[in-house]
Amino acid sequence: FPKKLLGRPEGEWRALHLCLRSCRGLSQLAELPEMHQILRQTCRDYAERELTPIAAKLDKEHVYPTKQIQELGALGVMAMEVPEELGGAGMDYLAYSVAMEEISRGCASTGVVVSVNNSLYIGPILKFGSEEQKQQWITPFTSGEQVGCFALSEPGNGSDAGAASTTAYQEGDEWVLNGTKAWITNSWDASATIVFATTDKKLKHKGISAFLVPMPHPGLSLGKKEDKLGIKASSTANIIMEDCRIPLSNMLGPRGAGFKIAMQTLDSGRIGIASQALGIAQASLDCAADYAQKRNAFGAPISKLQAIQFKLADMAVAIESARLLTWKAAILRDSKKPFTKEAAMAKLAASEAATSCSHQAIQVLGGMGYVSDMPAERHYRDARITEIYEGTSEIQRLVIAGQLLKEYQS
Ligand SMILES: Cc1cc2nc3c(=O)[nH]c(=O)nc-3n(C[C@H](O)[C@H](O)[C@H](O)COP(=O)(O)OP(=O)(O)OC[C@H]3O[C@@H](n4cnc5c(N)ncnc54)[C@H](O)[C@@H]3O)c2cc1C
Repeated sequence: FPKKLLGRPEGEWRALHLCLRSCRGLSQLAELPEMHQILRQTCRDYAERELTPIAAKLDKEHVYPTKQIQELGALGVMAMEVPEELGGAGMDYLAYSVAMEEISRGCASTGVVVSVNNSLYIGPILKFGSEEQKQQWITPFTSGEQVGCFALSEPGNGSDAGAASTTAYQEGDEWVLNGTKAWITNSWDASATIVFATTDKKLKHKGISAFLVPMPHPGLSLGKKEDKLGIKASSTANIIMEDCRIPLSNMLGPRGAGFKIAMQTLDSGRIGIASQALGIAQASLDCAADYAQKRNAFGAPISKLQAIQFKLADMAVAIESARLLTWKAAILRDSKKPFTKEAAMAKLAASEAATSCSHQAIQVLGGMGYVSDMPAERHYRDARITEIYEGTSEIQRLVIAGQLLKEYQS
């Protein structure tokens, strides 16, 4: 320490110590730890080699990236946080965020498959599952051979998830599920799903429980594949349950804890979607900056025009600030500190950065931005969903304001 600080009272030393500790946290934001840098480069190399070249084809043909998901499983990316003894990579959430951004930079559809398997399917089982459930429902889902899904939304309620109308009642040694879940990502390609259903209707959201259901399974069927604006290589469909019977042991967490499990899962999931959005935003900037240097207008590259430079600068600022928020939320989660507000801020900032950057990228490319010969139009379509799923931007603002006002009360 500098000499002038010596001889300070103990309280001040403690404050300084805390200050230095938080500075270390901040330096982690400015520069990733070495392990994360290596992971980032590995995922970037993989995405540039294996995803970027095929992303347009996957999008056009609506093809699930089977081979790529298995390769990502081999890299550990399908189960980043799962301990090695259960078959995962045993890494932290910052690592997951970094990997998600790079994968989504190459292909946002592949990104959402990775995200749903990691944070919406495996995440709650890792946190709330028994040891037997972890062995049965996580380990086979770490290699990319099988993926899971998360069935919360219904045709009648998305943002208002506590109003679930899917029911579960006990009959003998089984739960019997009835109802329809809507918009379920990975549904056509999944081997299991977590289903949220009400076991005690009069308790409203406190009567919702979570269940593990294998797929396919008698009494469970899938609706048509939704014809979406973007992320077309990932499947989205209704899951319909008509007297779908599962063993009593397939309840995840305690009876009535389903809504809490869903909300805590979405807190974490939002960091994954923020990272997906960052990948899309970065890919938009990459495309715009590269094109601007090659395209000539009025005798010079358009990158010499201040109008174009300002767009690129605004894109870079939006991405960098959203990335810092996303890493901050991940670091807080890894430090076992509250991160609900920060995850919502990250998702809001990153998804809005993705939609604005992909919009501006098309502007930089002019006519070439509007056709599928260049990736800008796909980024624009892929970006849009990040403001909708795992809580719309309006819901993120509600979450942020709710947490903020609590801080002002205390
Ligand atoms: C491609 C895709 C994939 C999806 N994947 C999954 C999945 O894997 N699992 C799953 O469970 N769900 C999934 N969803 C569902 C998604 O999470 C919901 O679509 C989303 O939460 C919004 O719900 P909603 O569509 O019912 O819209 P609504 O809730 O009807 O909202 C409509 C509009 O009203 C606004 N609004 C609603 N309530 C409020 C409020 N209180 N204050 C301010 N504004 C409000 C919304 O922000 C929105 O703008 C997916 C959706 C899509 C499109």
